[in-house]
Amino acid sequence: MSISNGYFTAVETAPGILRINSEENAAVDLILGSERAALIDTGFGVWNIREFVRTITDLPLLIFNTHCHCDHVGGNYFFDEEIRMGTADLGTRTYAVSRFFRDSMLNGRTLPESFDKEAYYSGGCGNLIPVEEGESFGLGGLTVEALSVPGHSVGSMAYYVPERKIVFVGDSVGRTVLLYGNGSADRPTYVNSLKKILALPFVTAMASHEREPLGRDYIERCLRTAELADYESGTPVSSPIAGSENARLCFLPGMTEADRDDPEFGAIIMDKP
Ligand SMILES: [Zn+2]
Repeated sequence: MSISNGYFTAVETAPGILRINSEENAAVDLILGSERAALIDTGFGVWNIREFVRTITDLPLLIFNTHCHCDHVGGNYFFDEEIRMGTADLGTRTYAVSRFFRDSMLNGRTLPESFDKEAYYSGGCGNLIPVEEGESFGLGGLTVEALSVPGHSVGSMAYYVPERKIVFVGDSVGRTVLLYGNGSADRPTYVNSLKKILALPFVTAMASHEREPLGRDYIERCLRTAELADYESGTPVSSPIAGSENARLCFLPGMTEADRDDPEFGAIIMDKP
């Protein structure tokens, strides 16, 4: 099954679970229960994700953010519903949707005819409420369970659907995980979060910046990278993000930047330990 409006395209990941892709390269996931639907993240906020979701379902909608970064909460302002975000991220959300980050997401972007620039810049993060570890939300036949996984941001959350053994991990998992700057947690905290994810009996993980479903081996590699990447041999990174003055790109031992295309590549960007 595939549904498209020419900008967003929804494809089925598992029965009742759709991944919404677009040129934004920050996926949004839609979980369809029999009584309620859940949306995980809202994308950049340039094209109207709410209108697209409403072409797929008219069920009451629960909305979750994996974390506060602009490419995940950008479309929050389209929704009147409450939106759940990890408690610890509520404090840094304003920075994440600042004019600077909003501008960065417009670079090279195709704008819709209806684009409301003023709403885009001033939209904020919508009607946020906190979500805590252990909270569980029944959708009718499918359940969303919240798990606190600080690292990439202090309030990062993962969302697990036990009936499909699928976990949504936001930016906690990727080929290069950002673990630096304003609002991130330290490395031991991140290592612990990856172990928590791996302790779930999941079969499939969905990361925001990887289009395809991931297996457990991918998250195990992220854990090895988080545990073993060496700061001293890392490459300095220049970044405009506050608090990132000592950030370095640090690799899985035996790898360098030249191994980027290797499927086994793993790196984290971190501050001086
Ligand atoms: Zn992020």
